[in-house]
Amino acid sequence: MPVESVFPRLEALLPHVQKPIQYVGGELNSTVKDWDACDVRWALMYPDAYEVGLPNQGVMILYEVLNEREGVLAERTYSVWPDLEALMREHGVPQFTVDAHRPVKDFDLFGLSFSTELGYTNMLTALDLAGIPLESKDRGLDDPIVLAGGHAAFNPEPIADFLDCAVVGDGEQAVLDMTEIVRAWKAEGRPGGRDEVLLRLAKTGGVYVPRFYDVEYLPDGRIGRVVPNRPGVPWRVSKHTVMDLDEWPYPKQPLVPLAETVHERMSVEIFRGCTRGCRFCQAGMITRPVRERSITGIGEMVDRGLKATGFEEVGLLSLSSADHSEIADVTKGLADRYAEDKIGLSLPSTRVDAFNIDLANELSRNGRRSGLTFAPEGGSERIRKVINKMVSEEDLINTVATAYGNGWRQVKLYFMCGLPTETDEDVLQIGEMAKNVIAKGREVTGGNDIRCTVSIGGFVPKPHTPFQWAPQLSAEDTDARLAKLRDSIRHDRKFGKNIGFRYHDGKPGIVEGLLSRGDRRIGAVIRAVYDDGGRFDGWREHFSYDRWMACAEKGLAGTGVDVDWYTTRERTYEEVLPWDHLDSGLDKDWLWEDWQDALEEVEVEDCRWTPCFDCGVCPQLGTHIQVGPTGQKLLPLSVVNK
Ligand code: SF4
Repeated sequence: MPVESVFPRLEALLPHVQKPIQYVGGELNSTVKDWDACDVRWALMYPDAYEVGLPNQGVMILYEVLNEREGVLAERTYSVWPDLEALMREHGVPQFTVDAHRPVKDFDLFGLSFSTELGYTNMLTALDLAGIPLESKDRGLDDPIVLAGGHAAFNPEPIADFLDCAVVGDGEQAVLDMTEIVRAWKAEGRPGGRDEVLLRLAKTGGVYVPRFYDVEYLPDGRIGRVVPNRPGVPWRVSKHTVMDLDEWPYPKQPLVPLAETVHERMSVEIFRGCTRGCRFCQAGMITRPVRERSITGIGEMVDRGLKATGFEEVGLLSLSSADHSEIADVTKGLADRYAEDKIGLSLPSTRVDAFNIDLANELSRNGRRSGLTFAPEGGSERIRKVINKMVSEEDLINTVATAYGNGWRQVKLYFMCGLPTETDEDVLQIGEMAKNVIAKGREVTGGNDIRCTVSIGGFVPKPHTPFQWAPQLSAEDTDARLAKLRDSIRHDRKFGKNIGFRYHDGKPGIVEGLLSRGDRRIGAVIRAVYDDGGRFDGWREHFSYDRWMACAEKGLAGTGVDVDWYTTRERTYEEVLPWDHLDSGLDKDWLWEDWQDALEEVEVEDCRWTPCFDCGVCPQLGTHIQVGPTGQKLLPLSVVNK
């Protein structure tokens, strides 16, 4: 049976909402397949507004991987703004996909990609608008299977009640494997109902089905153990890892947004994983090992993507792009190839120590010479040892001096506040570093028009990192520390006016911390916030700390634990952590040793270039670090359409 589009009903509402264009679909390279010609149908959601969700690479890749398959269909859906939500409720219009405006409830699977925990309330809004019961236990045979992926899914416990399942790691092969299981179950006439299909998924060992695990608590509130409650369900769920990126050259046909979005460029992921070992960085830890895309693979993706989109900028994405073993050849090859077309290149994540000015010059050759951003993360040498971010102030100043000497004028430095063992003095050093950068810039250029912007975020300890045991700094202490830094910068007569200072207050970090290291008891808090009108918590103008705290008090009443227990409390080695049964490949004992090394200010080297330090990932995956150089070059082909 064809499924009816809700567009005629939606269209009548669009003149009354802001930015209606974001809801109409039909983007270049979007796909609408015949509903009846497909037997497995996915709705994919990035639970934020279109402008943030559309450029998301994870969703874009899975959308294409699935739609390329015969008999499989995938459509996208994003969070609707509160103005449209109110009208949809009033007029009975359900959550819809932007591709064919089909109701989300009619799909077989509803997959949400969470890069941040602050999207959880948006998931509840979408489920409710879709007419899908919020809790897994209340869903019936005709409701989609609701699953989560993305980095936040490495601890899905706070949203366990709302999920049917979660998948950790790379999604490309995982969604295809799940599709086959659902297809077979449907073809057999859906035996055993939802329970059976979820059991089949769980038995693969790579799909976490929360309802098949019981959580037992100790009298003091800590977790005693997490136990499978069905035969055949594994004690630990493994992450998925795609080993050869060249076999997965997606997106091949990147989506071109209709409305304004946060990134207007095409992106090519040049490698996955990171071995630098920054202890605060969850992405670096959970995406190991390093897997590089080959230089020729990158060249082909850029060529095909530009032809398919008409974008004028290419972002070379990864966690630390300048670390690609052939980055110099990649950037030079691309800059040469697209010199006439004025295609700009950008490297969104660049480390100070992997950056050199030749690279910067190649990047800006075909585009504008805008600002440079570096992330020393910690203000003092001591705290950088604690976090294992091995960047010396001397390295930074030298790099920046060369940049100023080559015509760059704006440098942005990114830091965190609230790192383990941090003192006021460590944070005040941030101001000193900014002053030294400006002083060097003045010396090199002989001018006074040098600016340095310091941007500071609050540190949130994350699961599957050595800091998963660390106490988080309270919002009040974070704010007090940042106020001291602000005053010291403002009162500096020589440099104060040339230093830009941007920071967030400590409150959103506490909510993020609660959701990041929470367990199933936090589900009641999320539900209470949603019921009270909480939406778009990642947006400053929508976020309400007071609402979260009031709902936490209500949601956690009678449990004996509270927000401080989840955030500012230090954990011990023995404690069972809520995410221990989700296996990121990292050995827990290695993480603990690394945490002890942090406290003793001992650094570890990058295992790409030095001997393995046994974090556990490679042996578990039966692999090894994959790095070049391959020795191949990018030919200045010129096959680009003009
Ligand atoms: S197992 Fe060894 S080589 Fe592999 S990521 Fe861990 S430390 Fe590096």
